[in-house]
Amino acid sequence: MSNDGSSRRGFIKSAFLSGVGVGAWPHLSLAGEGDDKSAAAAAPAAAVPRKTLGSTGEKVPILLMGCAQKFDSRYDKLLHRAFKEGVDYLDTALVYEDGQSHKTIAPFLAQIGDRKKLWITSKGPGRANGDLVKAYEQELDTCLEQLGTDYLDLYFMHAVDDVDRLEPELIKMGERMRKSGKTRFFGLSCHGENEIAVMNKAAQVGGIDVIMFRYHFARYGELELNKAIDACKKAGIGLIAMKTQNSVPAEQEEVVGFQSKDFSLAQAKLKAVWADGRIDAAVSHMDNTKKLQENISAAKSPVQLSMNDFQQLQRLATLTADYACQGCAQICESRIVGETKIADTLRFLMYYESYGEPDKARKLYHRLSPVQRAVEGVDFAAAARVCPKGIDIASRMKRAHELLSV
Ligand code: SF4
Repeated sequence: MSNDGSSRRGFIKSAFLSGVGVGAWPHLSLAGEGDDKSAAAAAPAAAVPRKTLGSTGEKVPILLMGCAQKFDSRYDKLLHRAFKEGVDYLDTALVYEDGQSHKTIAPFLAQIGDRKKLWITSKGPGRANGDLVKAYEQELDTCLEQLGTDYLDLYFMHAVDDVDRLEPELIKMGERMRKSGKTRFFGLSCHGENEIAVMNKAAQVGGIDVIMFRYHFARYGELELNKAIDACKKAGIGLIAMKTQNSVPAEQEEVVGFQSKDFSLAQAKLKAVWADGRIDAAVSHMDNTKKLQENISAAKSPVQLSMNDFQQLQRLATLTADYACQGCAQICESRIVGETKIADTLRFLMYYESYGEPDKARKLYHRLSPVQRAVEGVDFAAAARVCPKGIDIASRMKRAHELLSV
């Protein structure tokens, strides 16, 4: 990583002035826009910068702690280090690590000693047994109980993939939850399937304070997504980016060979999200000190991406487009005969190939039923033809099966 003082001093304002026009990324702020060499050379800010989260009026750090992990319940150095650096927003969920995320965050809350010093977002999957509202309400209570707190700062309906989740009874449920004091704010996360329709409907119906959605440099050019982001912004909905790394196999990224005098590739991907002024914060899965420090350095750095950095990211997006599944399962899974879970399988493959988490990938893969894992004898050709990312679904599913079924 070359994100040190000398590299900042070497920053050249003219990088912005050459190359492609900024019109390609109308929402972005780039190096050269308002900053200068003295700002670039300045010492990092004392803590991770904060930004107002939509219409909540609350300022949160631009870097959020992704808690899909099990922490050390005696003393977790990552949580404490992050907190000291200003990353005081924890993003967890009932299903993360089979509930262990919550249970291992609870001791950290006690160690901090002042609930108000932490922002906690959690999510309920809404696993309905007939009554969806009741399911979400019970899940909120379970979140509070497992975390050992009497309120959340933000409660999400988790992985919303259907606009039905924004029907009036669910919006009213969110209002009741806020009024009860069990959560201060209410929102949803969406993982790809129908996300644009969900975001547009949320902007239209109101009652949703915050949305967390997949966003990264490779999605800048998606017109309908951009319109949905604009609609949410206009409606005052806070926007949190997740899956910011647009993970593709590491060997593919190595072929592209990203080079920047200021940032590592992982940092540049985060900076690319923060460069979009519509995004309030980015959540990141930081499961070791190196990742945590790298991300914190990027968040604190006043240096912005150069046009050259952006061009490289653009090239990377183009060259790896047919590896990055966007999770829009409704598009491809309806084109196959059978119940094979394409989007889930490719997500687990991403955990294996890009996140370096083979155990998690295999565990999740084995949770699918045999018919959901079926590859042999399934014709994926029609699914591949409609895939907006042009993914060679058959070969990627075969690879997933080879790597994850063992
Ligand atoms: S394989 Fe293609 S269509 Fe299917 S979920 Fe992934 S990106 Fe969407």
